[in-house]
Amino acid sequence: MDIIRTVEWMKQVARAARSEGRILGFVPTMGALHEGHLSLVRAAQLQCRPVVVSIFVNPIQFGPGEDFERYPRQFERDCALLESLAVDYLFAPEAGELYPAGFRTYVHVEGLSERLEGRSRPGHFRGVATVVLKLLEIVQPTFAYFGRKDAQQARIVRQMVADLNLDTQIQVSPIVREPDGLAMSSRNAYLQGAERQAATALFRALTAARREIEAGERDALRLVAAMRAVLDREPLVATDYAEIVDADTFEPVLRLRSTCLALVAAFVGNTRLIDNMVIGPVDDELKVEI
Ligand code: AMP
Repeated sequence: MDIIRTVEWMKQVARAARSEGRILGFVPTMGALHEGHLSLVRAAQLQCRPVVVSIFVNPIQFGPGEDFERYPRQFERDCALLESLAVDYLFAPEAGELYPAGFRTYVHVEGLSERLEGRSRPGHFRGVATVVLKLLEIVQPTFAYFGRKDAQQARIVRQMVADLNLDTQIQVSPIVREPDGLAMSSRNAYLQGAERQAATALFRALTAARREIEAGERDALRLVAAMRAVLDREPLVATDYAEIVDADTFEPVLRLRSTCLALVAAFVGNTRLIDNMVIGPVDDELKVEI
């Protein structure tokens, strides 16, 4: 695996692959890799050769007081994992390489960026959209792979790619979970003991909503109440939001008619976690594209 540190070198490598007619796959990450990330790499390897993975803890998507400084960084371990999967290239630029002095251009995907995660983390999706656009411009992959763990992010990226006529197809993979249901996340490393136990409340809340739907419930407010009841029972969990939204528009729904997403965000101690589940009048978890 070649480790690439500069934009120019990354562009050269990607250009060479494209000129040989190869199908380039790209998996952007912030590192501290886990099975969720690796599932994206495997999905890329099924369709593409070469595969480029990026590791970049993007400073502009963290707000003041968030965990940018203490975000887990495990570069050696990440390299070994990617080597073991025979990834072709790792793009790991320093912050100054992507944001040199004088940088002043940002991307804002209107509407979709203001709700849910965007409301709780102002400026977050501006930072995400900006770095994803830069990375897609540098690598110009045929396919780029994102996780449904960050469903709103995937929706925003799809919107940006369509609006800006980018030549990359966005592929979204299912959420990879721990055996007890907790969605895998680099931030799970912050959780110890009782907090780790309590963190399963997010998945249990989503499951409770799904059980209600299977029993015939279609009223979104009642489904939200069922989710909140599970979260509220955990003293270590402070709910940020629990919502049911249309899977395409991310607008809240009153009744479940189309494919929807149940989304939760909560603090477990000092650690902010998010999770979601595709829900709908029929169980189409695996069929839906968002
Ligand atoms: P991150 O390193 O947290 O920025 O995540 C990089 C990519 O991996 C994003 O597209 C995430 O949605 C995806 N991802 C993170 N956790 C999971 C998971 N548990 N299952 C599937 N994809 C994930």
